[in-house]
Amino acid sequence: MPGGTDLTLRPFLWRAENLYPDTEIVSRTHEGIERYTYAEYADRTAQLAHALDAAGIEEGDRVATFCWNHHRHFETYFGVPTTGAQLHTINPLLPDEHIQYIVGNAEDEIVFVDPSLVEKLAGAAEDAVEFDDVEFVVMGEDVPETSLDPVTDYESFVANHETEYDWPELDEDQPAGMCYTSGTTGRPKGVEYTHKMLWAHTMESLSPGGIPMDDDDVVMPVVPMFHVNAWGMPFTATAGGAKHVYPGPSPNPEDLAHLIEEEGVTITAGVPTVWLGLMEYAKENDVDLSSLDSAIVGGSAAPRAMIEWFDDHDVELLHAWGMTEMSPIGSVAHLKAGLEEEPYEDQLKRRSKQGLFVPGLEFRVVDDDGNEIPWNGEDFGELHVRGPSVTTEYFERPDANEEDFEDGWLKTGDIVSVDEEGYIKIVDRAKDVIKSGGEWISSVELENSIMAHDDVSEAAVVGVPHDRWQERPVAFVVPVEGADEEALREGIYEMLREEYPKWWLPDGIEFIDAVPKTATGKFSKKDLREEYSDEDLFEGRAPEEAAPDDD
Ligand code: AMP
Repeated sequence: MPGGTDLTLRPFLWRAENLYPDTEIVSRTHEGIERYTYAEYADRTAQLAHALDAAGIEEGDRVATFCWNHHRHFETYFGVPTTGAQLHTINPLLPDEHIQYIVGNAEDEIVFVDPSLVEKLAGAAEDAVEFDDVEFVVMGEDVPETSLDPVTDYESFVANHETEYDWPELDEDQPAGMCYTSGTTGRPKGVEYTHKMLWAHTMESLSPGGIPMDDDDVVMPVVPMFHVNAWGMPFTATAGGAKHVYPGPSPNPEDLAHLIEEEGVTITAGVPTVWLGLMEYAKENDVDLSSLDSAIVGGSAAPRAMIEWFDDHDVELLHAWGMTEMSPIGSVAHLKAGLEEEPYEDQLKRRSKQGLFVPGLEFRVVDDDGNEIPWNGEDFGELHVRGPSVTTEYFERPDANEEDFEDGWLKTGDIVSVDEEGYIKIVDRAKDVIKSGGEWISSVELENSIMAHDDVSEAAVVGVPHDRWQERPVAFVVPVEGADEEALREGIYEMLREEYPKWWLPDGIEFIDAVPKTATGKFSKKDLREEYSDEDLFEGRAPEEAAPDDD
């Protein structure tokens, strides 16, 4: 006889409300810092649930957000799914066409929108049939002048409702959340998160192999709440009873530094660009990071120099890997017991890998013939994953399901090696791997090496067609201001020559102003290729000896 209740989000809210009623939730807004306690949070979440009922939202309906990281957005995180409705977080950086597509595909009933994003949403909604039956709620106390209709403000929406709500018993397989993947090609793919997936992800994250946090932590997710639930941190922090700090709309490094200092942040998380910004800022300004225990970096590979910089500031930079499809955390590069004894250089190498799988998940790595590769740190293949927090299908996309799932495994499209200790290391995205003369070249590794050069701010390496070798790598490099390009080109080749065989060296280095980015801030090699398709990519050639031998 199975016992207990279903695995849903409700007990996490219950725990925070009852065990930690006085713990704070702090939010940076346009008007300044707002703060309240879990007790007030729970009241407002109940009011929101009543307001949704009053607006006619029923179990299974989708409610969307178009917001940055703040307390009102966090109220929707529990207020929507614990009623039985589904929270769909929309990425406001997407092109209008994508926004129209996903609002129509998800059949959103209400969209909660930030005041600073009203204009952007109104632009996407104009003349778009997908928005015909949508209602809008502006995340503030007023509604700015807008063509969005019907529209109300959040504070009026939740006001005058009861602060107690009789949360229903829900089925763990019921969808609680939804997020579309940024996808560098094709239409965005919807991923639905059931209550069970989010419950499992929270427990995986809370475990020592994940990103553990508890009631003496102060957690600041810089990673946007529209991107896979800010890596699940609002749920994890609530389950752990931690204080939350939300950095609000478009925070700059100075905002982040202030929040860390003033709120005593102990755990934070963001993509490498965020931490590069903070590092730059710290060069010119006094920054006190003494409260920080760890900063999580993920979404793209963490440069080794970044890990070292944080070590020098007595902060553990934890490298994590994951995917929208995985709720999202898959692996974290904790050092295994005993490995702290290794020389520092070896530890750094290990910690700059994508890491060890979190408890609850399994993986396999298969080569082109479908055979599992040995764990020797050299062979590579495609990473497949499965587990209770990993989706088994896309929303209404049988075409993508066919391609991306196999026998219950999600095919990640990431090409990895696994070392003897089980640390995975991404050597490329499946579509980005450069195959030259039948041999693999990792563009990611080249990029990381190039980005380690002091005079390089960004670098992307793409494969370009080559008559003889099928493909050759070309590097697109953004130099730091004032760098001497000729000297830099020589310097990069000199560095690469020390690390890689000759045939790995890029055939050319193009200096550009910025690497184009996807809506989530990743390098968009597709756009890069398109932008430079007419250029002579072999300009800025490697010195003769860098080109592959003719034989
Ligand atoms: P997304 O679903 O937008 O979060 O993108 C997931 C993809 O981002 C993964 O499949 C990887 O290709 C890439 N990614 C995520 N984390 C990392 C990381 N730590 N290092 C390198 N690539 C990463």
